[in-house]
Amino acid sequence: MTVRTRFAPSPNGQLHLGHAYAAIVAHDLARARGGEFLLRIEDIDGTRSRAALVPEMLADLDWLGVAWDGEPVFQSERLGSYAAAGEQLKAMGLLYPCQCTRAEVLAAATQPGPDGPVYPGTCRGREVDPDKVPGGAAWRLDMAKAIAMVGPLTWTDEIAGVQQARPERFGDVVLLRKEAPASYHLAATLDDAAQGISLVTRGADLFASTHVHVLLGRLLQLGAPLYHHHRLLVEAGGNKLAKRRGSPALADMRRAGEDGRALAEAVRELRFPAGIWLGSGVEDRP
Ligand code: GLU
Repeated sequence: MTVRTRFAPSPNGQLHLGHAYAAIVAHDLARARGGEFLLRIEDIDGTRSRAALVPEMLADLDWLGVAWDGEPVFQSERLGSYAAAGEQLKAMGLLYPCQCTRAEVLAAATQPGPDGPVYPGTCRGREVDPDKVPGGAAWRLDMAKAIAMVGPLTWTDEIAGVQQARPERFGDVVLLRKEAPASYHLAATLDDAAQGISLVTRGADLFASTHVHVLLGRLLQLGAPLYHHHRLLVEAGGNKLAKRRGSPALADMRRAGEDGRALAEAVRELRFPAGIWLGSGVEDRP
């Protein structure tokens, strides 16, 4: 089977060196194995997504010499598939409507989870009419029920090896949201399957999310890709690079006339600007 990887940026901010590293890892793993490298634009975060950033991102990749196969897939064009999967999970009795506000969730949560405080299940078993929730209900996965339905699950990371799936640490995650048509977990799982991704490469900060994706993949009978969670670029203090902390945008370097292909070569050789290095990966893996 041909290896197929992808780079899936969210146009919430400009790409920086950490994104360049992620794109190059995905691209080079595919090319080294005679496979394909696809692009997906994760543009369904209605409050943060900015369409104007997309052509900039494509220009950045081009500038780096990172060429993708086929046409980029836009999540905003796949809403029907997310809704259909949501209906399927509802029909399986695995989703329930939640009317809690963000503040109520924070106030009621007692345990920390990989994505923030774990929802204590306030609306599970409550009679919530989704049509009467102001702004619309959020649909949550009944995690215990879902896990009981599929039984023990494993998944494989090329670097970290075989993992026992532990999605329970997330609690009842939201899969369909008020302000967005699908959560990252649902959309990414469906898209990786729809794009035929056989090797999901992404940063180690998303390692824990894979436990949820593997569960969703099994519930929706989507097949099981292999994973490759790579180390993250970090800066002083061990924080992952972030545009808001001042990591320069690729677009600014591009406009300043810097050589993108030379930058990509430096990244491949793990030569980074002063103050930036590759983290161990372990501390990023909740
Ligand atoms: N859109 C996510 C991000 O920009 C990446 C998601 C993924 O690779 O699964 O961090």
